[in-house]
Amino acid sequence: MKYYSLNHNAPEVNFEQAVIQGLAPDKGLYFPKNISTLKPSFFENIESYSNEEIAYDAIKQFVGDEIPETELRKIIKETLSFDFPLVEVEKDIYSLELFHGPTMAFKDVGARFMSRCLAYFNKNNDQKNTVLVATSGDTGGAVASGFLGVKGVDVVILYPSGKVSDIQERQLTTLRQNIRALEVDGVFDDCQDMVKKAFLDNNLNFKNLTSANSINIARWLPQMFYFFFAYKTLKKHKKPLVVSCPSGNFGNICAGILAKKLGLPIAHFVASTNANDTVPKFLETGTYDPKPSKATISNAMDVGNPSNFIRIQEMYNNDLAKFEKDFSSYSFDDEETKVALKTIYNQNGYIAEPHGAVGYLGLKKELKNHPDAIGFFLETAHPIKFLDIVENVLNIKLPIPQQIESVLGKEKISTKIKTYEELKAFLKA
Ligand SMILES: *Cc1c(COP(=O)(O)O)cnc(C)c1O
Repeated sequence: MKYYSLNHNAPEVNFEQAVIQGLAPDKGLYFPKNISTLKPSFFENIESYSNEEIAYDAIKQFVGDEIPETELRKIIKETLSFDFPLVEVEKDIYSLELFHGPTMAFKDVGARFMSRCLAYFNKNNDQKNTVLVATSGDTGGAVASGFLGVKGVDVVILYPSGKVSDIQERQLTTLRQNIRALEVDGVFDDCQDMVKKAFLDNNLNFKNLTSANSINIARWLPQMFYFFFAYKTLKKHKKPLVVSCPSGNFGNICAGILAKKLGLPIAHFVASTNANDTVPKFLETGTYDPKPSKATISNAMDVGNPSNFIRIQEMYNNDLAKFEKDFSSYSFDDEETKVALKTIYNQNGYIAEPHGAVGYLGLKKELKNHPDAIGFFLETAHPIKFLDIVENVLNIKLPIPQQIESVLGKEKISTKIKTYEELKAFLKA
């Protein structure tokens, strides 16, 4: 499969090059040149396929012959080493729980897939890649866990000092081996700026830097798997399906739309956002006007300029009318999110967390336009990852899951930095 840059000013590359580079040299996101729908019989018989078989059929065209079938099947098996339960939280509304992986957020899926692809590509050479990633919380932990011990890959994670939760910090500072954490005296945007600068710095070319954010196709593409899994479970209802994704960089929803392009029968998508409402405003006014991000209680979605929105526009050939038929986007503030957390808990006994609650709100709103439909929202993280808010709002005490327990006792190791020069010196050393 060939990939082109959405800035249209860089050569086409194959899957391997796109994964290793992350971003095209013209700073555009890579996009697959051809997308073929799967056979109707695949969807007719989907109940008889295992999750691993579904994932393989969904992704094989994007990998082509660059990873042999047995290897790709092994990568998928290791990626999907946990469950993706669909829980009914009220009549016709389901929560697709994506948080049963090692770091308890959906980012485990993409991080595990990408790390294993890189390991395969490095199998027979002495090439070293450095994965450089800025995190506001969840990405860092998932990348640290997914890449731990992967041959030929060093991981450097930048996080804002004092601005991630204790659990999140331990998930990215206690693993050792090929994972190193830089504690930046600043906010998330400072970390992000330093990472961007490093990618543009010719003095660092020798480090083969790549990103592990959803701009990387190997993080983005496997995120379509769980839309197929949910369909497999809900198909028996024979009703149109509405899907709501709590959205920040719009990687998840972009993967869902790709699944639809492959033929998955999803009637309508909702991108549910917090107060960072660039896309809902765009659908309302027709003007795309990105703003600096605002801090909210669903902080993994505090994104003012969602990086994957351009991929979604590409899938609709920038045809707004066609796009709006399939897609809505709504914004909810922190107060509404807290009320939703309480409603879901009090009426149904289900414990969501702020991101899932935003997804629930968007789904409820959109289902009013589809009286004959059923729907699911993505529950993107385990409530324990947002323990302070969940315990406060619901007035409950959450038990600590084993995945989290295992990092709590470990000692943090990080290197404090303040400036880009310090990052550069660290990478060169
Ligand atoms: C990253 C993240 C999101 C946002 O996902 P996108 O794919 O960037 O839209 C939502 N919820 C949680 C918990 C996250 O960690």
